Amino acid sequence: METISYAYGPALYVNLTNRCDCACVFCLRHNGHKGSIYADDLWLDHEPTRQEALEDLLARDLPKYSELVFCGFGEPAYRMDDILWLVDRLKEAAPGLPPVRINTNGHADLILGRDVTPELKGRIDALSISLNGSTCEEYVAVTRPRDGERAWEAMLDFTRRAVRYVPTVMMTVVDKDKSPRELEACRALCESLGARLRVRAYIPD
Ligand code: SF4
Repeated sequence: METISYAYGPALYVNLTNRCDCACVFCLRHNGHKGSIYADDLWLDHEPTRQEALEDLLARDLPKYSELVFCGFGEPAYRMDDILWLVDRLKEAAPGLPPVRINTNGHADLILGRDVTPELKGRIDALSISLNGSTCEEYVAVTRPRDGERAWEAMLDFTRRAVRYVPTVMMTVVDKDKSPRELEACRALCESLGARLRVRAYIPD
């Protein structure tokens, strides 16, 4: 049974795609993993349609969750149009919808071929964008993006624009192999874009 949504802690997570334009060295999808610490079966043999996802979410008692988080086993921006459609439907149909967050690699412009950030206004309450390094070189080495250095610039630009439309924009780094100095450089970069740094603990295989 494929998992579209799953509770983890107080939040409800939504998984709409396996697709991703990166191949991060720490990605849980490597080594044949089909799940994570969050849920066992996250690999989707078929991506749910927006209607299937809506039905799955409406079957939940949404107001009881602290947050609705679109993350995906892959990169949720591949389903951004469906996410925005879902948020609109849920706001109509589910009074007391919790705040909505998207966990993303920030490559929406490259994936969608347009600037989607104005469309996030009033729909998305928080973004968590993977920063993964304070320099382009480090970023490309860690995330191995399809578009190489362009992906680094795209992620920074996306963040710079998103802070105008989304109330909370965080950028994340995984603490593994990061010195305090590197973390400080990440923090400075992040703050220069108008976002806030969140340091995440490394999850081993
Ligand atoms: S961006 Fe996320 S889903 Fe994509 S390879 Fe990196 S960790 Fe995995």
